Amino acid sequence: MIFVLLGPPGCGKGTQAARIAQKYGLKATSTGEIIRGQMAAGTEVGKAAQSYVKKGELVPDEVVIAMVKEELRSQSGGPGVVLDGFPRTVNQADSLADILTQSGLRLDGVLNFVVSEEEIIRRLSGRRVCEKCGASFHILFMPPHKDGICDQCGGTLIQRADDAPDSVRERLRVYARQTEPLIAYYRERGALNDIEGVGTPNEVAARVEDVVERIARGSCPA
Ligand code: AMP
Repeated sequence: MIFVLLGPPGCGKGTQAARIAQKYGLKATSTGEIIRGQMAAGTEVGKAAQSYVKKGELVPDEVVIAMVKEELRSQSGGPGVVLDGFPRTVNQADSLADILTQSGLRLDGVLNFVVSEEEIIRRLSGRRVCEKCGASFHILFMPPHKDGICDQCGGTLIQRADDAPDSVRERLRVYARQTEPLIAYYRERGALNDIEGVGTPNEVAARVEDVVERIARGSCPA
Protein backbone atom coordinates (compact mmCIF):
# COMPACT_ATOMS: atom_id res chain seq x y z
CA MET A 1 0.00 0.00 0.00
CA ILE A 2 1.15 3.54 -0.69
CA PHE A 3 -0.14 6.45 1.38
CA VAL A 4 0.70 10.13 1.21
CA LEU A 5 0.38 12.23 4.38
CA LEU A 6 -0.44 15.86 3.67
CA GLY A 7 -0.77 18.86 5.98
CA PRO A 8 1.07 21.92 7.27
CA PRO A 9 4.31 21.62 9.24
CA GLY A 10 3.55 20.53 12.79
CA CYS A 11 0.18 18.95 11.95
CA GLY A 12 1.31 15.59 13.35
CA LYS A 13 2.22 13.85 10.07
CA GLY A 14 5.48 12.45 11.45
CA THR A 15 3.89 11.03 14.60
CA GLN A 16 1.02 9.48 12.65
CA ALA A 17 3.29 8.16 9.86
CA ALA A 18 5.30 6.22 12.46
CA ARG A 19 2.10 4.82 14.00
CA ILE A 20 0.55 3.75 10.69
CA ALA A 21 3.84 2.18 9.64
CA GLN A 22 4.07 0.21 12.86
CA LYS A 23 0.44 -0.90 12.89
CA TYR A 24 0.27 -2.02 9.25
CA GLY A 25 3.90 -3.10 8.78
CA LEU A 26 4.65 -0.36 6.25
CA LYS A 27 7.82 1.71 5.81
CA ALA A 28 7.50 5.36 6.91
CA THR A 29 9.53 7.62 4.64
CA SER A 30 10.03 11.23 5.65
CA THR A 31 11.84 13.38 3.10
CA GLY A 32 12.57 15.87 5.93
CA GLU A 33 14.27 13.08 7.94
CA ILE A 34 16.30 11.92 4.93
CA ILE A 35 17.40 15.50 4.26
CA ARG A 36 18.35 16.09 7.93
CA GLY A 37 20.32 12.82 7.86
CA GLN A 38 22.20 13.98 4.74
CA MET A 39 22.89 17.35 6.37
CA ALA A 40 24.23 15.69 9.53
CA ALA A 41 26.44 13.40 7.44
CA GLY A 42 27.73 16.38 5.43
CA THR A 43 27.01 14.80 2.03
CA GLU A 44 26.84 16.89 -1.16
CA VAL A 45 23.03 16.65 -1.09
CA GLY A 46 23.05 17.66 2.60
CA LYS A 47 25.27 20.67 1.92
CA ALA A 48 23.10 21.76 -1.00
CA ALA A 49 19.90 21.41 1.10
CA GLN A 50 21.16 23.17 4.23
CA SER A 51 20.46 26.80 3.29
CA TYR A 52 16.90 26.00 2.11
CA VAL A 53 16.01 24.01 5.22
CA LYS A 54 17.41 26.63 7.62
CA LYS A 55 15.32 29.37 5.97
CA GLY A 56 12.20 27.21 5.95
CA GLU A 57 12.16 27.00 2.14
CA LEU A 58 11.65 23.91 0.01
CA VAL A 59 14.67 22.01 -1.27
CA PRO A 60 14.62 21.96 -5.12
CA ASP A 61 12.18 19.44 -6.59
CA GLU A 62 14.80 17.42 -8.51
CA VAL A 63 16.71 16.67 -5.28
CA VAL A 64 13.72 15.31 -3.36
CA ILE A 65 12.21 13.54 -6.36
CA ALA A 66 15.48 11.59 -6.81
CA MET A 67 15.39 10.66 -3.10
CA VAL A 68 11.84 9.36 -3.25
CA LYS A 69 12.48 7.49 -6.48
CA GLU A 70 15.39 5.68 -4.86
CA GLU A 71 13.39 5.01 -1.68
CA LEU A 72 10.42 3.53 -3.60
CA ARG A 73 12.79 1.45 -5.72
CA SER A 74 14.44 0.03 -2.59
CA GLN A 75 11.01 -0.78 -1.12
CA SER A 76 9.58 -2.37 -4.26
CA GLY A 77 8.07 -5.76 -3.53
CA GLY A 78 7.68 -4.78 0.15
CA PRO A 79 4.39 -4.29 2.03
CA GLY A 80 4.20 -0.58 1.26
CA VAL A 81 5.25 2.95 2.10
CA VAL A 82 3.84 5.91 4.03
CA LEU A 83 5.17 9.12 2.48
CA ASP A 84 5.48 11.85 5.10
CA GLY A 85 6.25 15.29 3.67
CA PHE A 86 6.29 14.31 0.00
CA PRO A 87 4.92 15.52 -2.37
CA ARG A 88 5.01 19.19 -1.40
CA THR A 89 4.55 20.77 -4.86
CA VAL A 90 2.33 19.96 -7.82
CA ASN A 91 5.46 19.09 -9.81
CA GLN A 92 6.46 16.55 -7.11
CA ALA A 93 2.93 15.09 -7.15
CA ASP A 94 3.07 14.68 -10.96
CA SER A 95 6.49 13.01 -10.61
CA LEU A 96 5.18 10.67 -7.91
CA ALA A 97 2.33 9.62 -10.22
CA ASP A 98 4.88 8.89 -12.99
CA ILE A 99 7.19 6.94 -10.66
CA LEU A 100 4.29 4.83 -9.38
CA THR A 101 2.99 4.13 -12.88
CA GLN A 102 6.47 3.12 -14.06
CA SER A 103 6.79 0.76 -11.08
CA GLY A 104 3.33 -0.76 -11.61
CA LEU A 105 2.14 0.71 -8.28
CA ARG A 106 -0.79 2.90 -7.34
CA LEU A 107 -1.47 5.49 -4.69
CA ASP A 108 -3.97 4.03 -2.21
CA GLY A 109 -4.90 7.28 -0.55
CA VAL A 110 -3.92 10.72 0.69
CA LEU A 111 -4.50 11.57 4.36
CA ASN A 112 -4.86 15.33 4.78
CA PHE A 113 -4.40 16.50 8.40
CA VAL A 114 -6.51 19.58 9.11
CA VAL A 115 -5.13 21.82 11.91
CA SER A 116 -5.51 25.62 12.39
CA GLU A 117 -2.54 27.99 12.07
CA GLU A 118 -2.70 29.06 15.76
CA GLU A 119 -2.54 25.43 16.83
CA ILE A 120 0.44 24.82 14.49
CA ILE A 121 2.42 27.69 16.02
CA ARG A 122 1.65 26.44 19.55
CA ARG A 123 2.79 22.95 18.62
CA LEU A 124 5.98 23.87 16.77
CA SER A 125 7.26 26.23 19.45
CA GLY A 126 7.18 23.38 22.02
CA ARG A 127 8.27 20.57 19.73
CA ARG A 128 11.43 18.64 20.59
CA VAL A 129 12.88 15.88 18.43
CA CYS A 130 15.35 13.12 19.17
CA GLU A 131 18.75 13.84 17.68
CA LYS A 132 19.32 10.11 17.21
CA CYS A 133 16.04 8.46 16.06
CA GLY A 134 13.91 11.47 15.04
CA ALA A 135 11.02 10.68 17.46
CA SER A 136 8.91 13.74 18.17
CA PHE A 137 7.77 15.10 21.58
CA HIS A 138 6.16 18.28 22.92
CA ILE A 139 7.21 19.98 26.15
CA LEU A 140 3.54 20.43 27.19
CA PHE A 141 1.35 18.04 25.18
CA MET A 142 3.59 14.99 24.78
CA PRO A 143 6.47 15.32 27.24
CA PRO A 144 9.09 12.57 27.42
CA HIS A 145 9.22 10.54 30.64
CA LYS A 146 12.64 12.03 31.43
CA ASP A 147 13.31 15.69 30.64
CA GLY A 148 15.34 16.12 27.43
CA ILE A 149 15.72 12.36 26.82
CA CYS A 150 14.02 10.29 24.11
CA ASP A 151 11.63 7.64 25.50
CA GLN A 152 12.34 5.41 22.53
CA CYS A 153 16.14 5.29 22.26
CA GLY A 154 17.58 7.39 25.11
CA GLY A 155 18.92 9.98 22.63
CA THR A 156 19.06 13.73 23.38
CA LEU A 157 16.01 15.86 22.54
CA ILE A 158 16.69 19.09 20.66
CA GLN A 159 14.68 21.90 19.06
CA ARG A 160 14.98 21.81 15.28
CA ALA A 161 16.66 24.95 13.88
CA ASP A 162 13.70 25.38 11.53
CA ASP A 163 11.25 25.39 14.46
CA ALA A 164 12.57 28.86 15.40
CA PRO A 165 9.79 31.51 15.01
CA ASP A 166 11.09 33.13 11.77
CA SER A 167 11.53 29.76 10.06
CA VAL A 168 8.10 28.60 11.22
CA ARG A 169 6.46 31.70 9.71
CA GLU A 170 8.30 31.09 6.42
CA ARG A 171 7.40 27.38 6.40
CA LEU A 172 3.72 28.27 6.84
CA ARG A 173 3.93 30.78 3.96
CA VAL A 174 5.67 28.17 1.79
CA TYR A 175 3.02 25.59 2.72
CA ALA A 176 0.17 27.94 1.74
CA ARG A 177 1.80 28.89 -1.55
CA GLN A 178 3.33 25.62 -2.75
CA THR A 179 1.78 22.68 -0.91
CA GLU A 180 -1.83 23.64 -0.17
CA PRO A 181 -2.75 23.43 -3.90
CA LEU A 182 -2.21 19.65 -3.52
CA ILE A 183 -5.43 19.46 -1.51
CA ALA A 184 -7.44 20.40 -4.63
CA TYR A 185 -5.11 18.28 -6.81
CA TYR A 186 -5.82 15.10 -4.87
CA ARG A 187 -9.47 15.95 -4.21
CA GLU A 188 -10.02 16.20 -7.98
CA ARG A 189 -8.44 12.76 -8.35
CA GLY A 190 -10.75 11.28 -5.69
CA ALA A 191 -7.82 10.39 -3.41
CA LEU A 192 -8.19 12.95 -0.60
CA ASN A 193 -9.30 11.99 2.92
CA ASP A 194 -9.52 14.86 5.43
CA ILE A 195 -8.60 13.98 8.99
CA GLU A 196 -9.27 16.29 11.93
CA GLY A 197 -5.73 16.70 13.30
CA VAL A 198 -6.68 18.20 16.68
CA GLY A 199 -6.70 16.00 19.77
CA THR A 200 -4.30 13.60 21.44
CA PRO A 201 -2.06 11.45 19.21
CA ASN A 202 -4.28 8.48 20.17
CA GLU A 203 -7.47 10.29 19.14
CA VAL A 204 -5.97 11.30 15.79
CA ALA A 205 -4.55 7.78 15.29
CA ALA A 206 -8.05 6.32 15.78
CA ARG A 207 -9.39 8.58 12.98
CA VAL A 208 -6.44 7.61 10.78
CA GLU A 209 -7.06 3.90 11.35
CA ASP A 210 -10.75 4.30 10.39
CA VAL A 211 -9.73 5.86 7.08
CA VAL A 212 -6.88 3.41 6.37
CA GLU A 213 -9.15 0.45 7.06
CA ARG A 214 -11.92 1.85 4.86
CA ILE A 215 -9.36 2.29 2.07
CA ALA A 216 -7.98 -1.21 2.65
CA ARG A 217 -11.50 -2.65 2.36
CA GLY A 218 -11.82 -0.78 -0.92
CA SER A 219 -14.85 1.19 0.20
CA CYS A 220 -13.11 4.55 -0.07
CA PRO A 221 -12.54 6.19 -3.44
CA ALA A 222 -8.78 6.64 -3.76
P1 AMP B 1 9.77 18.27 7.46
O1 AMP B 1 10.58 17.47 8.42
O2 AMP B 1 8.86 17.43 6.62
O3 AMP B 1 9.04 19.42 8.13
O4 AMP B 1 10.81 18.93 6.42
C1 AMP B 1 11.82 19.81 6.88
C2 AMP B 1 12.38 20.60 5.71
O5 AMP B 1 12.97 19.69 4.75
C3 AMP B 1 11.36 21.41 4.91
O6 AMP B 1 11.06 22.66 5.51
C4 AMP B 1 12.10 21.54 3.57
O7 AMP B 1 13.13 22.51 3.64
C5 AMP B 1 12.74 20.16 3.41
N1 AMP B 1 11.81 19.21 2.74
C6 AMP B 1 11.24 18.10 3.27
N2 AMP B 1 10.45 17.48 2.37
C7 AMP B 1 10.53 18.23 1.23
C8 AMP B 1 9.92 18.13 -0.04
N3 AMP B 1 9.05 17.14 -0.35
N4 AMP B 1 10.24 19.08 -0.96
C9 AMP B 1 11.11 20.07 -0.68
N5 AMP B 1 11.70 20.25 0.51
C10 AMP B 1 11.41 19.33 1.47
